[in-house]
Amino acid sequence: MSQNTDRVVSERVADYTARFASFLQGTVATVEEELAGQEVGTGGRPGLDEAGRMHPMVWEARREVRRQAGDAGLYAPHNSVHVGGGGFSRVEMHHVEEFVYRRAGLGLGLAALAWTEGPNPAIEHCSPQAREQYLSPLINGEITAAFANTERDAGTDVLGMSTSAKRDGSDWIINGEKAWITNAHFADVVQVVAVTEPGTGSRSLSMFLVDANMPGFRRGADLPTMMTDGLTGELEFSDVRVPAENMVGETGDGFALAMSWINWRRLCRGGMCAGWGRWLLDRALGYARERRAGGRPIADLQAVQRLLADMDADVYQARATSLVAQAELDALGPFDIPLHPEAPRLISLVKVINDEAFGRVTDNAVQIRGARGLLLGSPEEKLFRVARNLRIPAGTAEVQRNAIARSLLRERAA
Ligand SMILES: Cc1cc2nc3c(=O)[nH]c(=O)nc-3n(C[C@H](O)[C@H](O)[C@H](O)COP(=O)(O)OP(=O)(O)OC[C@H]3O[C@@H](n4cnc5c(N)ncnc54)[C@H](O)[C@@H]3O)c2cc1C
Repeated sequence: MSQNTDRVVSERVADYTARFASFLQGTVATVEEELAGQEVGTGGRPGLDEAGRMHPMVWEARREVRRQAGDAGLYAPHNSVHVGGGGFSRVEMHHVEEFVYRRAGLGLGLAALAWTEGPNPAIEHCSPQAREQYLSPLINGEITAAFANTERDAGTDVLGMSTSAKRDGSDWIINGEKAWITNAHFADVVQVVAVTEPGTGSRSLSMFLVDANMPGFRRGADLPTMMTDGLTGELEFSDVRVPAENMVGETGDGFALAMSWINWRRLCRGGMCAGWGRWLLDRALGYARERRAGGRPIADLQAVQRLLADMDADVYQARATSLVAQAELDALGPFDIPLHPEAPRLISLVKVINDEAFGRVTDNAVQIRGARGLLLGSPEEKLFRVARNLRIPAGTAEVQRNAIARSLLRERAA
């Protein structure tokens, strides 16, 4: 174990963060400088093209950072060692994510660590052929993925989806439409969840890998959200024929695999909210010391000190919850299929506490800056919108509470 800034972390986290810091100063700074010259926006505030999608030059800059992060072995610390990832524990990933979000802020450095578009725990269950064709290039940062679960008429109600996959010889034929899919416009491969055995409840779904070059696959409309990142859209599947080796896991594993993907994103909220929260707090402290009112810095005012203290309390609460819950989850094995019965409550606690605490942090961060906090495109304004968004994707705040209550009541009954 070694000391990293203000916390004790494992040697490999210390090694990772040291390498990440120099990657930010070298590669990322160079790509950011080149992007700034193009005047098409930044990583955190991308310009959009005529169709409302992320400007291709911003996307290209992210791709460059991602590829180089893959080469440097920084991109997939969360994936298992046997598929080429770093094999980091959940607690280690909290420290990595917190470091990355605090250091990169809203910069292109965020593209250096796999996010929604990257290799995830669910895809590790793919066939040997798919591993070679998709998983290894994903881990190396050469290609990107999208997770296509939600439909216009089925969000929370995952089992109510209508996209279907029917067997034809050894192939599967997929038909349907997906909506609200992150990276819909750019993904090279899509992890699509479809009904294969109607009426069998949580065994009714399966997961497939659809190559973006397959006939019948089409990218649909952009769905512009308050994230203003030009990344969310629709996908259409018309008689898309996929070979048997493109199924992830076994027939009927789709619901469990989808939850494995979703739970991965839920758990990432810990490091993300703590890291961005600390970044906003650092910025707020700097601003409060500089901005003057009545002849003295606003940091001298008790009212402003209270806002700062509340920000710290929220970040601390979110971070502490994540570290404790992720340590418990490390002991349980959160990505096992089937999931350990104690895991859903812990995962939902991480998501709901972090999302809501981060919402208050961004609100106070805006407040401390007065009008400047409301300025369109300021980091505070952008993260205020991001924080509002967080309470919906990867399971709404209400659904997290359902999972927590279900678990408590089951324990009580037992
Ligand atoms: C920016 C963004 C990115 C996204 N990225 C992806 C992606 O990459 N892949 C993907 O598959 N999906 C993605 N989604 C979709 C997202 O996961 C869904 O929007 C989310 O699961 C909620 O579904 P819904 O929008 O259909 O809302 P609904 O399920 O219709 O919910 C509406 C309201 O009813 C409440 N509600 C519904 N059911 C229950 C219940 N059982 N108990 C209590 N309350 C309930 C909800 O909490 C909510 O308040 C994304 C969404 C956004 C906004």
